[in-house]
Amino acid sequence: MSPILETRHLNKRFGGLHVTNDVNFTLGTGEIHCLIGPNGAGKSTFFRLLLGEYTPDSGAILYQGADITRMRSYQRIREGISVKFQVPGIFKELSVEQNLVIALQRFYPPAEMRHEIEHLLDFLRLGAVRRMRAGSLSHGQQQWLEIAMAIGPRPKLLLLDEPTAGMTPDETQFTGEILLELNRAGMSILAVEHDMAFVRQIADRVTVLHFGRIFAQGSIDEITANDEVAKIYLGETDAA
Ligand code: ADP
Ligand code: MG
Repeated sequence: MSPILETRHLNKRFGGLHVTNDVNFTLGTGEIHCLIGPNGAGKSTFFRLLLGEYTPDSGAILYQGADITRMRSYQRIREGISVKFQVPGIFKELSVEQNLVIALQRFYPPAEMRHEIEHLLDFLRLGAVRRMRAGSLSHGQQQWLEIAMAIGPRPKLLLLDEPTAGMTPDETQFTGEILLELNRAGMSILAVEHDMAFVRQIADRVTVLHFGRIFAQGSIDEITANDEVAKIYLGETDAA
C-alpha cells in the first residue's frame, strides 16, 4: 500500500529563517504518527504546508501517491485532509450544535448532517452540552468540539496540532481513546504532541523536528532513549 502522505525535499523560509529544511517525511496509510520538537521547531508551519495554507519554496507534497503541491487548500480538504489547528477555531458565541452545523453543512445533505452531528455529539461526549455556548465549555470540551469539527467530514488524513494542550490527564486519556478508535476505523493521523505518555498511548512512530529539520525518527522507545533528543528539550518549560 502506498503511503498516504509524503514530502520530498520540502523547504520553506521566512526571511532568513529556514523553517522547513529539506523535509523528507512519510506517513504510512493507517498509521498514527506523532511530531514532536521544541517550540519554534517548525511543526505548525509543516502543517500549514500540508494543508496548502503556505506554499513551499521548493520540494513536493504527495497525497495517496498524487502530487498535491500546487493544489488549493479547499481542494485538499475535499480530497480528505482535515486539520485541527493549534489556535482555537470554534465560534465561542455559538452553541456546540451550531458550530458543528457550520463545520459539516458543506459536506452533507441536511438529513445526513443531522445524523452525523448526533453521532459526533455522542462520540465526543458532548451530548449534554449541545445547546451551550461553545465559549462556556471546559477547555477539554472545547478541544473535543474542535476534533468533532475536524473529523465531521470523515477525512482520510487527520492532522492535529497539539490536541491535548492544557488537558487534564483524564481528558488526555479520553482523547487518546478517541484517536485510537478513529484509527481503527481507517483514519491516518499525524499529531503534534508534547505529552510523552500520550505519544506512548497512541503513536506507531515518532518524528522529532528541530530547527526545521527531521532530527530523529523511530518508535517511542527509541525516541525516549535518545540522549540527543533529550538535549534539544533542555531549557524548554512546556515540553517534556
Ligand atoms: P512550532 O509550531 O514548532 O512551535 P512554528 O512552525 O510555529 O513552530 O514556527 C517556526 C518558526 O517560524 C518560528 O521561529 C516562527 O516565528 C516562524 N514563523 C512561523 N510562521 C511565520 C510567518 N508566517 N512569518 C514569519 N515567521 C514565521
Ligand atoms: Mg506550533
